[in-house]
Amino acid sequence: MKIPISKPYFDDEEEKIIIKPLQSGWVVQGPFVKEFEEKFSAYTKIPYAVASSNCTTALHLGLIALGIKRGDKVIVPSFTYVASANAIEYVGATPIFCDIDLRSFNLDIQKLEDIVVNNNDIKAIMPVHLFGLCANMPKIMELAKEYKLKVIEDCACGFDSWIGTKHGGSFGDCGCFSFHPRKAISTGEGGMLVTGIQTLAEKVRCLRDHGASKSDLERHLQEGGSLLPNFNILGYNYRLTDMQGALGVTQMNKAQKIMQARRKIAQWYNEALADFPLLLLPQTPENFKHSYQSYVVLFSPSYEGLTLEMIAKYNKKRNIFMQKLESLGISTRQGTHAVHTLKYYCDKYYFKEDDYLTSLAADRLSISLPLYPQMSESEFDYLINSFKKVFG
Ligand SMILES: *Cc1c(COP(=O)(O)O)cnc(C)c1O
Repeated sequence: MKIPISKPYFDDEEEKIIIKPLQSGWVVQGPFVKEFEEKFSAYTKIPYAVASSNCTTALHLGLIALGIKRGDKVIVPSFTYVASANAIEYVGATPIFCDIDLRSFNLDIQKLEDIVVNNNDIKAIMPVHLFGLCANMPKIMELAKEYKLKVIEDCACGFDSWIGTKHGGSFGDCGCFSFHPRKAISTGEGGMLVTGIQTLAEKVRCLRDHGASKSDLERHLQEGGSLLPNFNILGYNYRLTDMQGALGVTQMNKAQKIMQARRKIAQWYNEALADFPLLLLPQTPENFKHSYQSYVVLFSPSYEGLTLEMIAKYNKKRNIFMQKLESLGISTRQGTHAVHTLKYYCDKYYFKEDDYLTSLAADRLSISLPLYPQMSESEFDYLINSFKKVFG
């Protein structure tokens, strides 16, 4: 049996809708992108949603629209996908890494506070809602208000992630989502910036479209559509195509079903792995709703007191565990990476591996397990029996 790490959920609805832009001839950002934005905004209960070519470009535009520029400092977790930090580099700002809490894989609030209190030149925080669990946004927003910091949420993994009745992306100035096939809903490539601030949304709409004062769709719906709009600012071409927009519309139509299936499988894991030695399961704080973009366990005897030696020892064991699963046809991955250990960042800012020890531990000891809505009970049984075999 072959069990991949993930699979996007597409069926005949996607097959039917994707030919519509081909038939109408409107293939660039147009009516389907607009409908996708409206559905996304309704689902997340966030007033404005602006689609873009992927989450990284959404983060880039969000930072520009918030006025983050060369020389500014932006706090970002040291354990996240490289794109979070890269977006900060794109605007010439400096990422200030902050270590994480191994229980949530998200920003360690105490360490965040230490950085904010001890540096008077921080401009913004980019919390990441890793693997589908929101960072502690109430605490982060308290700090941000007190120190007048902008907040841009990296919600790449945070679709259908909630704290109480608030969706990820609704706490800070803006939030950015990804629709890459590894995320819960997918349009191939795709991204979405959400915000409650109308002027910010308008700025991002303009920036994603070369800085045009009016979109093609608006232009075509109006008289005098043959005249080009004005270009008042330096923009980019970060538009989503209408084929992708069409996929987004169908994915939103079945989003609840997809998320229900993902949570069901996460629950299977929670029960089946509860007593496994050396596997620490994902934790969900009270009032938080995990969306399980990934189901990530920690291969470790404990969350605390990890030393470099222990990390090296259990890293070896983890890698053997993952290799044995691979040989049984089961794909796993490390959760994500400790960005300060990646060559570009390490060379530029002279980091040592243990500068962010908890992130290093997460990099070396995390395992992302297969999770996709179509997973059958027999696939899951095979998975768990294989775990038992490998541990035995
Ligand atoms: C996937 C991911 C991104 C990048 O998303 P793209 O849509 O591929 O650009 C950024 N940040 C995090 C945390 C991610 O997981």
